[in-house]
Amino acid sequence: MTQTLFTNISGLVTPGVGAQRGAAMRDLTVIPDAALLVRDGVIRWVGPRAEAPRHVPEHDLGGVAVVPGLTDPHTHAVWAGERLADFEARISGVPYEEILARGGGIRSSMRATGAAGVDELVALARPRLRALRDSGATTTEVKSGYGLDFGAERRMLQAVRVLQAEFQLVPTLLIHVPPTESRAEYVQAVCHDLIPGVAHDGLATAVDVFTEREAFTVEETRAILQAAKAHGLQTKLHADQFHAIGGTELACELGALSVDHLEASGPAQIAALAASNTVATILPGVTLHLGLPAAPGRALIDAGAAVAVGTDLNPGSSPVFSAGLALALAVRLCRLTPAEALTACTVNAAAALGLSDRGALAPGQRAHFLALHSADWRDLPYTLGANPVRNVFIGGTPV
Ligand code: FE
Repeated sequence: MTQTLFTNISGLVTPGVGAQRGAAMRDLTVIPDAALLVRDGVIRWVGPRAEAPRHVPEHDLGGVAVVPGLTDPHTHAVWAGERLADFEARISGVPYEEILARGGGIRSSMRATGAAGVDELVALARPRLRALRDSGATTTEVKSGYGLDFGAERRMLQAVRVLQAEFQLVPTLLIHVPPTESRAEYVQAVCHDLIPGVAHDGLATAVDVFTEREAFTVEETRAILQAAKAHGLQTKLHADQFHAIGGTELACELGALSVDHLEASGPAQIAALAASNTVATILPGVTLHLGLPAAPGRALIDAGAAVAVGTDLNPGSSPVFSAGLALALAVRLCRLTPAEALTACTVNAAAALGLSDRGALAPGQRAHFLALHSADWRDLPYTLGANPVRNVFIGGTPV
């Protein structure tokens, strides 16, 4: 048994345990001059320092604020190749269709990723995951989805499995880009070959589908998510990014963990999310990078939904290597309050991955927490372009 009492915390700040919805997202507990007792990687006690258990080895945090470790619930952190020429072209006004026609765009990421071996994918993803962790992400979801074929999809997930030795990762199988021909056969093969194999080998805990006019239809998505459920996997969706074609309603109907993007969600989709246990995950890095409309974060919370925030780290639409930056952008671009943004990036982001054992600083929760540089936790949502996180603790151990 190893135990440590973390002391000299100017303010310990935490949402409640488990997903928080609507106005409850603003209910933070703030304990001035706090202490935190960790035993065997789990939080055992939290409270004012004056009331802390005695005769326990102490770790003095130096008078700064402590918040829960963040969860990044949506990344595509495994990819090969780069999209720097695409970025320059887009900024210069070249339409995406022309970038695709030149051999760029998502198809270039798929070619490069499909050609890479597991070791190469691991080496490419490692510094990205380090950057996310340094920014405060103690748990990170990573999707496949750039595979040209099922072998490449599995190699992406195998790379995540290798990296799980170094990071707290949650792997998701993403069905991302439909083939240009034999679509029905492809969906059948996803349901009867890829998903059963991935489930059998424990390579993913959830299946995600990109439901969109240019990607998979609602009926294709339904078949894929039902196959996922039949094989014991959780479900989530990329939906309403450009058009609200019914993906959000389907996800709520099927009890998906989360629906992600939601930039094109209207009142019907917001109402469906507010009436469900499905987490609404918004991705403000895409809004910043592509200059597109933001997801209705404010309206979702006002309607009573549970909102989470992710980076959507990917080479094309969100080169955001910081969970803290995603939190700060959600405040500016999606009009979350600082308190709501902290809840969105902690307990709600964990709930979007089906996890209820992290994201709050309370007895029984995993001891994933952040010591900031500042004595005031609001420097976390406030700071842009510098890292407000001084130390990251995972299971009570500094990284
Ligand atoms: Fe995504």
